[in-house]
Amino acid sequence: MASAKLQGEYITFKNGEYRIPDQPIIGALAGDGIGPDIWSATRMVLDAAVAKAYAGRRAICWQPLAAGEAAFAETGSYLPDETLAAIRKQLIAIKGPLSTPIGGGIRSLNVALRHYFDLYACIRPVRYYDGVPNPMKRPGDLDVVIFRENTEDVYAGMEWPAGSVEAEELGAYLREKLKVKLRPGSALGIKPMSPEGSKRLIRMAVQYAIDNKRRVVTMVHKGNIMKFTEGAFCQWGYEMAKAEFPDQVITEEELTNRYQGQLPSGKILLNDRIADAMFQQLLLRPAEYEVLATPNLNGDYLSDACAAQVGGLGIAPGANVGDGIAIFEATHGTAPKYAGLDKVNPGSLILSGKMMLDFMGWKEAGELVEKALQKVILGRQVTYDLARQMDGGEEVSCSAFARLIVKAI
Ligand code: NAP
Repeated sequence: MASAKLQGEYITFKNGEYRIPDQPIIGALAGDGIGPDIWSATRMVLDAAVAKAYAGRRAICWQPLAAGEAAFAETGSYLPDETLAAIRKQLIAIKGPLSTPIGGGIRSLNVALRHYFDLYACIRPVRYYDGVPNPMKRPGDLDVVIFRENTEDVYAGMEWPAGSVEAEELGAYLREKLKVKLRPGSALGIKPMSPEGSKRLIRMAVQYAIDNKRRVVTMVHKGNIMKFTEGAFCQWGYEMAKAEFPDQVITEEELTNRYQGQLPSGKILLNDRIADAMFQQLLLRPAEYEVLATPNLNGDYLSDACAAQVGGLGIAPGANVGDGIAIFEATHGTAPKYAGLDKVNPGSLILSGKMMLDFMGWKEAGELVEKALQKVILGRQVTYDLARQMDGGEEVSCSAFARLIVKAI
């Protein structure tokens, strides 16, 4: 591989901007189960795209990092300190899926990584690739990028089992001090949502829209019912946009009253939708939406629903991003029954790699990856998951699929 001879240089982040050297050191966590298969396929494709786009002037110096079951067998830790320290220094990493250790107090290695690095935005672009089997009449109408808040909401890990001391004590406090009605023996969970956590997520979504010439940012919430958490999420979003993007962002009210419903060029529309209505909107009028900013739980549901809509659950890319640090990842799990069989679809990790190249500003290479993947899908030589749903699809292995993409590049 080209990068074996590379020295590599660290990426830096200063004043809100990454500086990407021509031979950046990037952490690679192959992951568990099918992780090693899809990672070697992905690496082959990304190296080929970078080499082709920049005629050898640029190359990625991958640094393998231990995590998951292999790391545990070697070091006794699923997420060794050395790995965390390396990611902290490298700033950008890519990872395959990690299995969730059963028992032993670790909720999930992915959640642990998000919390450790404060990766507060889970970003999922969802678009249709021609030829991918899907359930819709016009799947190409959906082309959205979802920004899901990653650190707060009911996923913050503040919950206690029914009958536990914590639940009983908290229940007593709620009954006595706040006069709420609560059935005896209830399990309890807390849904924290802060102005800071909400604003930084919506800020990132708006900035993404500006940088990528997207025109609509929609906040998706259940503020009609949960007024002080989800309702506030939306209000904080409007406040933030008014204070920080006064020249770029307009609201739906301004669109109607001042601009007669026509979005002026150079402006971004910031609007909001109630979450349940949004599921309908994305099925019935998908072309009206471009960037979505959501609290944690809504975003979790919406990301998978949107990916399914374009037939792309198996090839959906994703990233978890904080300020000055980003981890790009396959969105599916470790599919243990296929581990080591060179069988599964590496598309999710490959497209996460494309996202990473775009994020680094290496858009020419990212475009090569996307176009080549599209070409190979149209050629109907695909992995089992797509082949079994395609008329005339020919099944190829994970590595053969990657080689076809490299050839198309
Ligand atoms: P999963 O690993 O995503 O697998 C479920 C099914 O999805 C597979 O049996 C397979 O379907 C299909 N699939 C997944 N990846 C595929 C690929 N690349 N190509 C083709 N088909 C693919 O979900 P799971 O079995 O619920 O979870 C297994 C482990 O992964 C658990 O330990 C879980 O905690 C972990 N996990 C990790 C992450 C992460 O690291 N981000 C995310 C989710 C789950 P068929 O059987 O129909 O072929």
